[in-house]
Amino acid sequence: MTDQGTNLDPWYDSYADRTAGLSASEVRALFAVASRPEVVSLAGGMPYVSALPRELVMGSIEKVMHDNGAMALQYGSGQGTPAIREHIMEIMAMEGIRGSADNVVVTTGSQQALDLVTRLFINPGDVVLAESPSYVGALGVFRAYQADVVHVAMDDDGLIPESLRETIVALEAAGRPIKFLYTIPNFHNPAGVTLTWARRLEILDICRSHGILVLEDNPYGLLSFDQPAPQAMRSVDDEGVIYLGSFSKTLAPGFRVGWALAPHAIREKLILANESATLSPNSFGQFVITEYLDQTDWKGQIDTFRGLYAERRDAMLAALGEYLPKLSWTKPDGGFFVWVTLPAELDSKAMLPRAVKELVAYTPGTAFYADGQGRQNIRLSFCYPTPDAIRTGIARLATVINGELDL
Ligand code: PMP
Repeated sequence: MTDQGTNLDPWYDSYADRTAGLSASEVRALFAVASRPEVVSLAGGMPYVSALPRELVMGSIEKVMHDNGAMALQYGSGQGTPAIREHIMEIMAMEGIRGSADNVVVTTGSQQALDLVTRLFINPGDVVLAESPSYVGALGVFRAYQADVVHVAMDDDGLIPESLRETIVALEAAGRPIKFLYTIPNFHNPAGVTLTWARRLEILDICRSHGILVLEDNPYGLLSFDQPAPQAMRSVDDEGVIYLGSFSKTLAPGFRVGWALAPHAIREKLILANESATLSPNSFGQFVITEYLDQTDWKGQIDTFRGLYAERRDAMLAALGEYLPKLSWTKPDGGFFVWVTLPAELDSKAMLPRAVKELVAYTPGTAFYADGQGRQNIRLSFCYPTPDAIRTGIARLATVINGELDL
């Protein structure tokens, strides 16, 4: 008990061991400052929900309350309502996944599905393989269950199969139990890249031959800018893949409705875990979303989001090219994020307070690693600020970076 702050907590000795992994994000305090209106925040990954016409949502809410109010306000099934599960399978068909609505488990956002899957599989010290870098929210869950996260290299085509194979062989030789590979194949958070189809197949092969489950996290798949949605890994392997989906980016995160598709035996356990965690997922949210999907041109609305985010991606890439031509960055074909590599002498975490002073915020790369890497990277989000604000933000960032480099 060396930390001064902990002496102020009379319950400090009572907490479970696993809470050792529960720490406030190092950059949380700065983000509070960064939410001031004069700061251009390229940090958070908030969907631009203002582009969702309010009357569409209001109409769905009114109709639910008129037709099904008592049920929508009641507890529901631990698996989710049959009607929303049917709709989810229609959405899944867009990514090549077929099957019955019985395969779907509705969760409180895909974040909760991440928690449930981790709870089902991880004993302290078990290995989770994850891309290098990986989603900060998943790393937080893995830490909370005391998993040992081992990062696997990626490049502009996503996770590198050869690195995966080598990592698995080395861990097996060391006698380490690997429970699953956590991957974000489309428009990666934070790296912005997409896994090629050939690599998807190769990675599935590798995992199958080593008896490793794949956890495919795909909240951004339908937010592809130019192409149709990439086909899911689960579309070719429904016995070795748990797929996670979400309405957070294609509709709105406030509903807190996501889902998991899992191999049969795992699905039963997921439903039990879901019931024990929340009794049932958000009934009202499920009813409103079902009504919205029944009554509105939801595919047209997703196209609106795609167009809006594509324009913001273009603004960010153009501004980076203009103001920071010496740096390198990824070029996302969808989603919310660009991953920037800084010159070796810069430290993204140390630089953040100076950036906030210049009225621009970003997320330092260190947030996306379980092992302290990432000082040479920053994640920039283009989803929320307008194209003009993005330009202003990148110009300010260039001032900070050039100042650090003494240019
Ligand atoms: N996975 C990834 C890769 C994400 O970026 C997010 C949201 N930031 C989530 C899961 C969680 O999304 P939700 O719980 O809103 O469905």
